[in-house]
Amino acid sequence: MLGIGILKGLGETGRNFIGSYFDPKRMVTVQYPEKRLPLKENSRQFPFLVFDGDEASIGLRCVACQICEKECPPQCIYIEKSKDKKPDHVGKPQYYPAVFDIDTSVCMSCQICVEVCPFDAIKMDNQYELSTTDRFGGLLLNRDRLAKPNGYFQKLHPTDAAEIDLRREEERVKAVAKAKADAEAKAAAAKPKAATATGGSTVPQAPTASA
Ligand code: SF4
Ligand code: SF4
Repeated sequence: MLGIGILKGLGETGRNFIGSYFDPKRMVTVQYPEKRLPLKENSRQFPFLVFDGDEASIGLRCVACQICEKECPPQCIYIEKSKDKKPDHVGKPQYYPAVFDIDTSVCMSCQICVEVCPFDAIKMDNQYELSTTDRFGGLLLNRDRLAKPNGYFQKLHPTDAAEIDLRREEERVKAVAKAKADAEAKAAAAKPKAATATGGSTVPQAPTASA
């Protein structure tokens, strides 16, 4: 019958309207901004940079490889690599971003930068109340504004963060074990050389009596 869909729709609206007075599940909207719906773990807005420890200047995971900058479809990431290096979580010297900017007025929240980053250094934030009247300064986020601690990432995306933390800890333990094994091998290789230098034996020779 013509118009049956409209009648069904009106019936559903009426059921929700009356039902919402008795069953909170029937409430299809909330009084924003006084109330906010909890965000899903995988909700995303704009990227941020993860750092380990307490200081962003020391713990930033980003090594300024610039892969995300190249892969970002609207080209809204700008990176300048540092001249010096600092150790990463396994103690390997790495460059870091002297400059890292994201223009969030251009970013389309595609998450490609996150997907391509080999260092788990960039992740998606779920902050959405970013409107500002300052089109340029307000939406162009620099390294200091982008840097957020791993604890923040753990709260936002607990499943993803737990997996990454475990993998990074395994890598760190492996690196420590390898460094120890290398040091022991080096020390063992140095021993025969020391023996050769003292005439083939490490035992001191007794002096011979003169006539
Ligand atoms: S989310 Fe997409 S558009 Fe935004 S910075 Fe990352 S790659 Fe670029
Ligand atoms: S965020 Fe990741 S992909 Fe981008 S420069 Fe840093 S380490 Fe490379």
